[in-house]
Amino acid sequence: MECNMLVEKLISRIRSFGTRKLSYSGRLVLVNSVPTTIYSYWNYLWDSSVDYLRVPRVSWAKICSPKEDGGLGIRDSVLWNQAAIGKLVWWIYSSPDRLWVKWINQVYLKGRQWDDYTPSGDLSWGWTSICKVKVKLLPGYQNGQWVLGTHGYTLDSGYDLLRDKFQTVVWHKMVWNNWCIPKHQFIGWLVAREALMLKDKLFSLGHYSDDICILCGTGSENHLHLFQACPYSKRVLELLARLAGGAVLDSNLLMWVEAGHFSHLKKGVLLCATLATFYHLWMQRNRSRIEGSLLRPELLRDLITKEVKIRVHSLLTPGITAKDKNWLLSVSLFV
Ligand SMILES: [Zn+2]
Repeated sequence: MECNMLVEKLISRIRSFGTRKLSYSGRLVLVNSVPTTIYSYWNYLWDSSVDYLRVPRVSWAKICSPKEDGGLGIRDSVLWNQAAIGKLVWWIYSSPDRLWVKWINQVYLKGRQWDDYTPSGDLSWGWTSICKVKVKLLPGYQNGQWVLGTHGYTLDSGYDLLRDKFQTVVWHKMVWNNWCIPKHQFIGWLVAREALMLKDKLFSLGHYSDDICILCGTGSENHLHLFQACPYSKRVLELLARLAGGAVLDSNLLMWVEAGHFSHLKKGVLLCATLATFYHLWMQRNRSRIEGSLLRPELLRDLITKEVKIRVHSLLTPGITAKDKNWLLSVSLFV
């Protein structure tokens, strides 16, 4: 195909040395910026990194769902293409005077209703594709009118009808907010989805001979253990407990911040610190597996504190209240 050269050029660019060094958040921005998002780009997202030892299990449809539905908001190019074809479907409904529609009426419809029309016989691939998309989009039409938008058919409204729907997740604001450090959000998203490939899953699939936690050597390595119950992690999580004024981190990995009724700033700082903690625990877990060495929990706490401090400082506005400022001073996060 004529497009092959262009696609190859895009893939070689995306796989270039410079982009291999990008964090997952950087890769996500790059994937979303490429006009034809295809599976190979998605593979690139996970490709050859110490952050991952195995590709996490999240379905393509879920990944392509909006962030508020627990996805990454990546656009599915196949469905987007169908939504674009949907524009032609809509023209046939709404623009009988358009030259192309007149031609369609004369050659294919021949007086038949577009709603009920089914192509038969040896018709062109293009026309049968339009007819297939029409069937998929029919739920959006009533009496020939597109009812899923106020200004007629749009690509976004067509795409929204075509994509799989998932329930809204309450944690999306915990992960995708301004306070969190972008580099940490991707791992935060996987933790919230409980989608990291941990030893409990890998053991059940036969990839490991045991499911023992690499950090402590005692518990079974699952999400709740690694990010909450593990003795090593608990020492690191002391930082969060201190920032939260001793609040108990309950069984939900992220929602305790929401449940705590903290001030806007405090909530932001806690979310930033929580995602930073998840990220660094995950990195330590991988480091321990690959290099056999582990940073002392106190040093890891210091590292996380330093990162959170820089982030918070970059987001502080002159209008900060005296109460918030005093709190930041009391937890040594005010520069
Ligand atoms: Zn452990």
